[in-house]
Amino acid sequence: MRFDVLTLFPELFDAVLGESIIGRARENNIIEINAINIRDFSDNKHRKVDDYPYGGGGGMVMMAQPVCDAFDSIVKNLSYKPKLIYLSPQGRVLNQEIVKELSKEKHLVLLCGHYEGIDERIIEEIVDEEISIGDYVLTGGELPAMVLIDAVSRLIPGVLSGEESYSQESHYDGLLEYPQYTRPYEYKGKKVPDVLMSGHHANITRWRRQQSLKRTYLKRPDLLEKLDLGKEDKELLREALERSE
Ligand code: SAM
Repeated sequence: MRFDVLTLFPELFDAVLGESIIGRARENNIIEINAINIRDFSDNKHRKVDDYPYGGGGGMVMMAQPVCDAFDSIVKNLSYKPKLIYLSPQGRVLNQEIVKELSKEKHLVLLCGHYEGIDERIIEEIVDEEISIGDYVLTGGELPAMVLIDAVSRLIPGVLSGEESYSQESHYDGLLEYPQYTRPYEYKGKKVPDVLMSGHHANITRWRRQQSLKRTYLKRPDLLEKLDLGKEDKELLREALERSE
């Protein structure tokens, strides 16, 4: 999968997305991430990319010309138009469902705003969708773009060791993940639950499902309300809650 990022701060991307799992996926050519400097496309002799807002008010607004020309430089070499996402606090709020949806694309272009934001005509001309990473305002779209790339890349085959690595994680099927333990068996008097030491796979699977249901009920009841739990899950949850009373 290919990500092109239109940004005023391209150097930030390699610093964060050049390491660990994402860094290896790039080395193995499973994903490609290109950070493109919008300033390189300014037709102004001072390489200006922003200006004062019409109508007054504080801050600067990113100009349409450099952004649209930067996007055109990508599209002109392609036989298709990649989806352009503008990271914006006004967009659809990112969640795992949207991440799954985006992981089916072969090529995404991500536009990072800065300062007061971008000229509205950019949105009208080239933006397909606005995505927010939450109901708060950041100084720029670079961190949101990195969040989106990281979350989407994990679902691309070959990035993680297997589908199991993400399909049991929080939010994949609407539930939170069960508790995890590793060595030592005992830490500060707290032991690993017996069932995990039993080697009995069916019991471990059942326990994990029950813990997922219980955690979601206790930590994020709003998620559970969106699910249509089957009879077996309802029974597991009832049993878990009775036990902790
Ligand atoms: N004036 C804009 C508004 O009120 O909607 C906010 C501009 S913000 C200071 C600058 C840039 O940061 C935006 O253009 C956007 O790219 C990015 N940004 C800020 N908060 C974001 C969020 N929650 N999700 C995604 N991008 C965000």
